[in-house]
Amino acid sequence: MGSTPARAPPPGTPALSDDDRRELSGRIGPLAAAFTRAGHRFFLVGGLVRDTLLGHGLTGDIDITTDAIPDQIAQLVAGWADTVWEQGKAFGTIGARRKDTAVEITTHRAESYDSGSRKPHVRFSDDIVTDLGRRDFTVNAMAIEVPGWTLYDPFGGLADLANGVLRTPSEPEGLFSDDPLRMLRAARFSAQLALAPTQELVTAIRGMRPRLAIVSRERIGTELTKLLELPRPSAGVRFLADTGLLGDLLPPWQQSGTAVPAPGFDAVGDLDERVEIRWAILLGLVCDDEATAARCLSALRIRGATIQGVIAIGRAARALQTASADAAASGGGGPDTGRPVARRLVADHGPQLDAATATVTAWDGSLSETFVRLLAEVQTAEGEALRRLPVDGHRVMEVLGRSGPVVGEALAWLRNQQIEHGPLSSERACALLAEWDRRRPQSGTGAFEAAH
Ligand code: ATP
Ligand code: MG
Repeated sequence: MGSTPARAPPPGTPALSDDDRRELSGRIGPLAAAFTRAGHRFFLVGGLVRDTLLGHGLTGDIDITTDAIPDQIAQLVAGWADTVWEQGKAFGTIGARRKDTAVEITTHRAESYDSGSRKPHVRFSDDIVTDLGRRDFTVNAMAIEVPGWTLYDPFGGLADLANGVLRTPSEPEGLFSDDPLRMLRAARFSAQLALAPTQELVTAIRGMRPRLAIVSRERIGTELTKLLELPRPSAGVRFLADTGLLGDLLPPWQQSGTAVPAPGFDAVGDLDERVEIRWAILLGLVCDDEATAARCLSALRIRGATIQGVIAIGRAARALQTASADAAASGGGGPDTGRPVARRLVADHGPQLDAATATVTAWDGSLSETFVRLLAEVQTAEGEALRRLPVDGHRVMEVLGRSGPVVGEALAWLRNQQIEHGPLSSERACALLAEWDRRRPQSGTGAFEAAH
């Protein structure tokens, strides 16, 4: 651990708004009282302290740290909780829930690490400052004692929050070497809290990058997903690119010389598929084909459904890029030339088109505005109808009076008719089919197609 903190806790400083205090008292007041009655201390810590000091209110779970050891914690929560989890007991953590309030209570720690793993040998401590000093960033190394609501901020986290600085409470090489996942947490918190990493932190990450090899791919994938879920993750992704971490995690980014497209990346924050879109943006910029992109994601143990979503968005985005360029080349993408092209996109990629538009916009902003307008118009007016046919295989067999491969050919032909001329009613489809069949030579490719 690094040097002793310079700043003393400001005793008695009220740290929370009255509303937050009232709500927290209601939720965990009796639990805190049980600890103090037994002669132990009880501190709120972590994200809750950080986020309430930022005025974000009470979000997420409640992290507590105490000088009580795990067996004592287990006894003390028993009288309060509906449910208790002891899986983390060996590492000092007991989980508990009462109604809709979930807490994780951890004995103060002063751990040391093996160099070959990121699992700490847990050593407990009876000192809050020691505990805060082994945490990842100063903004996460603040605690509020209950009762009394005194803020403990020995590493200047509040000032760093105010000044927009991301810094470690102890020497960063050691912190990142002990638990390399913290390098990815640095990227996430820099974006989540709009904090600029100190030069010291950046230099440490450049040097400690190879240590990420000891972290499981699942944990890395999960942490990257948390970054990509943020409303505005681009600063974090740029940080990963600048430090070289991005190329370590997604090899096609190595030496790609590509820039992270920040505005397009942040613009999709409101969309449900934002994580998939952001993967599609990142991978589409540097991967030569879908197989490479899929390999990158499965190497990070990203869920199969997410990978499929990313690939579908990437495919739709490339189709959109080509279609927009073609439409623009053949008459500016105006309604007459552009409409069949727009219909084909809607028929093939309808559900992905919003995500694809966001993706191409992020890549290079090359979309023709006229074409995008036309596409939206076709999607609204004809989208439903274009994605299905007005007749099914049974109806086609009735009209043609036979079955076999011709049914498939007929359906494909009808689909093209819809793309060329717009949605068909079932009557019109049947009439067209009958005509198609009459004109069609028995043996195969027909004069009818040639005539249309
Ligand atoms: P959020 O829950 O919003 O993602 P958080 O700061 O609460 O943010 P948690 O992962 O819940 O993050 O961790 C709670 C606290 O535990 C952190 O604020 C930090 O003090 C500490 N912590 C968590 N993970 C690490 C780590 N890998 N290294 C050091 N400290 C950590
Ligand atoms: Mg938390």
